[in-house]
Amino acid sequence: MTHHNVAVVGAGLSGLTLARVLHRHGVDAAVYEQEPSRHTRAQGGMLDIHDDTGAVALHAAGLHDEFRALVLPKGQETRVLDRHGVVHLAEQDDGTGDRPEIDRGHLRDLLLDALPAGTVRWGARVRTAQRIGDHHEVTLADGTTFSTDLLVGADGAWSRIRPLVSPATPAYTGVSFVELDLPDADARHPAAAALVGGGMMFALGAGQGFLAHRESGGDVHVYAALTVPEEWIAGVDFADTAAAKAVLLDRFADWDASLRAVIADAEGDLVPRPIHALPVGHRWDHVPGVTLLGDAAHLMSPFAGEGANLAMLDGAGLGLALAAHPGDPDEAVTAYETALFPRGESSAAASAAGQAACFRDDAPQGLLDLFAAHR
Ligand SMILES: Cc1cc2nc3c(=O)[nH]c(=O)nc-3n(C[C@H](O)[C@H](O)[C@H](O)COP(=O)(O)OP(=O)(O)OC[C@H]3O[C@@H](n4cnc5c(N)ncnc54)[C@H](O)[C@@H]3O)c2cc1C
Repeated sequence: MTHHNVAVVGAGLSGLTLARVLHRHGVDAAVYEQEPSRHTRAQGGMLDIHDDTGAVALHAAGLHDEFRALVLPKGQETRVLDRHGVVHLAEQDDGTGDRPEIDRGHLRDLLLDALPAGTVRWGARVRTAQRIGDHHEVTLADGTTFSTDLLVGADGAWSRIRPLVSPATPAYTGVSFVELDLPDADARHPAAAALVGGGMMFALGAGQGFLAHRESGGDVHVYAALTVPEEWIAGVDFADTAAAKAVLLDRFADWDASLRAVIADAEGDLVPRPIHALPVGHRWDHVPGVTLLGDAAHLMSPFAGEGANLAMLDGAGLGLALAAHPGDPDEAVTAYETALFPRGESSAAASAAGQAACFRDDAPQGLLDLFAAHR
């Protein structure tokens, strides 16, 4: 059976950052990823990288300069509208902000390209993992097995590794997104392009709204957000795009025509994304030989914009801890988890508060207050 000193399940931002930081410190890790290749799924969406989390991780990975070269010019422009289309906040991006935006796919490629060939085992879906003696044994969907001294669950919201340390499972937050795309927006959707601007646009009303990003290729990517029961979103037939659009337009019936047009004019499939979260303050008693990173550890709603930033910081933090405690992975993991739990709790609480603030009856005032407090 193949044996690894460190095996990581999941080639998302957390697992890749860990592998990269370990590689920089001369430690090889094996990364097992269920997707058949890096191109299987469009990574989609923009991420703003925060100075105190994601950027710290990119420095630890030795990739901060390369990241800066990929930042979207004007990506930090921010607009906040109400449901009548009235603009309450319009900020320009003068290049000095502390939240540079990058295409999620570009960031993942940056990390992948900085790893030795063969580090990521593609098409390797982990089915089960268990402790055997002083190590863990993992079985893949194709029946092959491997063992490892340190098993790292970087496998996202529905982690297969989490049950080894915690019985917690994600719960629905009460909010669902529906993803909409307006490709080549300046040429094909000029009104929507102007509405969104060069960066991020929020249009918020009581219990619902739009969160839209300008992407690096000029596309506009929109999340229509709805406070609805999980059964409601599960009941919409998204295979029938015209019918799904009609359902969505009905929910936004009394919104300004410029905002409703974002739904009507969207191209391609509408993709539902019910938003789940682990309990705020999720933690576990240390279990030798296994730990979690990123969403597997602290899945939260995206309303603090911290999930991916923390995922990378977790990966970097564990990598640096392992490098600092050669020969004693348990001490390294304990040090990592000691830092992980309070920062995960604080961001998860901020996400939950941000979600509530966005959809208050006096929206968009809650978000405007949050922005004012941030400054
Ligand atoms: C709609 C939305 C918008 C968001 N916006 C932002 C934002 O603006 N800013 C921000 O910071 N965060 C944002 N987030 C959160 C962010 O996307 C996540 O926190 C981040 O991607 C977590 O990274 P991860 O590496 O922990 O997990 P993931 O990115 O989920 O990666 C997990 C990997 O594990 C693999 N995997 C899963 N199961 C297995 C298995 N059994 N075997 C092998 N491989 C497996 C998956 O294929 C995947 O590649 C958003 C999230 C959502 C849903």
